[in-house]
Amino acid sequence: MERYDYLIVGAGLYGAVCARELADAEKKVLVVDRRPHVAGNAYTEDVDGIHVHRYGAHIFHTNDETVWRYVQRFAAFNRFTNSPVARYGNEVYSLPFNMYTFNQMWGVTTPEEAAAKIAEQRREIAGEPRNLEEQAISQVGRDIYEKLIKGYTEKQWGRDCRDLPPFIIRRLPVRLTYDNNYFNALYQGIPVGGYTRMAERMLEGVEVRLGVDYLEHRQELDALAERVIYTGPVDAYFGYCLGPLEYRSVRFETETPDTDNFQGNAVVNYTDRETPWTRIIEHKWFQFGKDDAGKDLPGTVISREYSAEWKPGDEPYYPVNDEKNGARYAGYRALAEKEAGTVFGGRLGEYRYYDMDQVIASALEKVKELKA
Ligand code: UDP
Repeated sequence: MERYDYLIVGAGLYGAVCARELADAEKKVLVVDRRPHVAGNAYTEDVDGIHVHRYGAHIFHTNDETVWRYVQRFAAFNRFTNSPVARYGNEVYSLPFNMYTFNQMWGVTTPEEAAAKIAEQRREIAGEPRNLEEQAISQVGRDIYEKLIKGYTEKQWGRDCRDLPPFIIRRLPVRLTYDNNYFNALYQGIPVGGYTRMAERMLEGVEVRLGVDYLEHRQELDALAERVIYTGPVDAYFGYCLGPLEYRSVRFETETPDTDNFQGNAVVNYTDRETPWTRIIEHKWFQFGKDDAGKDLPGTVISREYSAEWKPGDEPYYPVNDEKNGARYAGYRALAEKEAGTVFGGRLGEYRYYDMDQVIASALEKVKELKA
């Protein structure tokens, strides 16, 4: 029987980085993935020159110089800067929360006026914010909370803002400048040619078997390799023995409306409670409406995104990092630490709301340990 040094379960970014690094260190590596494609949830599919983000918008951004240099090896990045627009009924607001938003909400024009408005509205929160609602109001006041945060957050997470942890909203910058860049990151962009091609380049020369479910064929697969790097859901690995962890899943309705420009922006968030979708992505704008050769793309592809509680058979997207799940995950983590020969990594393996750059950084770190 063929022997591998490492079996890597999952061909997403964590798995692909580990595979690349271990293969470069002369290790024999086998990658398996349950799905018929590589790149995990960053997977993009070419539809007449448009790289459709099949599992939702992925915008690469980082402050980590090492990670930025690392990804350049596998793709050229365009200069896409995420500036989503929020729609509340027929009102349109700039995101993230910045001077444009404050002007649209309150008519204020100077940072001083905006700061005064926020200071007045945050007075209702005394002490350290204990949940997402308090955190949001203390950052931007009640008006913005009610129109741009509450509905969107409760749709995305299916939970009351008072039952969600404050850190989720701390991801978003709040600025007293006219700057619509959604991320506070030194580097940002989308890989030219799509994420799938980038992942394929990472996996060049590595044996990859697609459509293989590790948990269904565990014994045979384990027998092939010395060690396992597992990037699937940690609770599934342990047969849900401590009870299932909760995840949010997302469903997309993708269409090709008969127009060249459906919404004038890559991402439009629908922040009211009544609209059932959370956002609409118009994929061509991630590449400035041009194909990889720089030619104007005719037509368009849009995806409406609907959030839902994960249930068996769905793709898990977001860990629900509230107290209940945090406590349950601590139990799984203790089991994982005792599982000699298996490394658990990535958003699902570590049950963490990682961004792509954080996944890459943590994979590089882990591999360094493994090689040491
Ligand atoms: N958020 C919000 N209104 C918005 C966009 C984001 O309230 O229009 C908050 C919300 O709490 C959400 C969090 O910011 O859960 C992160 O949202 P984002 O859409 O950036 O998350 P992603 O799905 O892109 O990781």
